Amino acid sequence: MDRFHQRIKVIMDPRLNIIDKRLKKVNRIIPVASGKGGVGKSLVASTLALILSQEYKVGLMDLDFYGPSTHIILGVKDIYPREEKGVIPPEIHGIKFMSIIYYTENKSLAFRGIDVSNAIIELLAITRWDYLDFLIIDLPPGIGDETLDVIRFMKKGEFLVITTPSKVALETVKKLLSILKELKIPIAGVIENMKMEESMFIKNQIKFLEIPFLGEIPFDKKIEDSIGNINKLLNTNFAKNMEEIKDNFLRRNPHNR
Ligand code: ADP
Ligand code: MG
Repeated sequence: MDRFHQRIKVIMDPRLNIIDKRLKKVNRIIPVASGKGGVGKSLVASTLALILSQEYKVGLMDLDFYGPSTHIILGVKDIYPREEKGVIPPEIHGIKFMSIIYYTENKSLAFRGIDVSNAIIELLAITRWDYLDFLIIDLPPGIGDETLDVIRFMKKGEFLVITTPSKVALETVKKLLSILKELKIPIAGVIENMKMEESMFIKNQIKFLEIPFLGEIPFDKKIEDSIGNINKLLNTNFAKNMEEIKDNFLRRNPHNR
């Protein structure tokens, strides 16, 4: 099968109806994305899930095949999903947690292109979230087929896009933003992470694109020591910045579905 027909097969997949059903009681879906890797998507997704879970019912889904990391950040160990007419995610620190790691662990399979798409569809189709106020999705870096598939299936996704102060990161983020705009996918806003010095460059660029700029997060040296320990993580400056960004996000993107 050529690439085009492979894509059509994915788009026509009957599991897509099941995904709609599975996500029916999920009020808001927030995919965390970037054009680049290593910009802080997983840290933002995990910390945001932790902060929101203090007030809301929250799920976190790690779909980053190439480097799943939310389980490391949150210190998820020895808990597994339960199978019952699908798969029920385990709860950790009050978050319903599902990760591609449960299905790829100890396998050095090189997932690529269509295989990754298939696995993502499968995971979305089997997971029983039940009622959630927020489902946060940690995405793989870039704007490959997998990200585009998630964009297609997440009809109510509000994308949270992460960049760094680097022009290189910004360029790839701009590409992602223009794809989202073209597909009429809601964009919650952009976060500038790992900031080292004062500059309005990114903020101005994002505002020029008429996309909400949700805030900046300075580079935080204490982060590394808090990986795997949620109490430490919630006490970092990073978490304090995320708290403000969360308020900004909720204020700017009110929602009564
Ligand atoms: P991504 O998911 O985009 O690949 P990660 O969330 O894994 O990025 O972050 C990459 C690395 O940078 C991790 O080691 C993470 O702890 C670190 N990191 C992310 N944001 C910050 C920050 N604001 N200050 C310091 N380190 C950070
Ligand atoms: Mg990541």
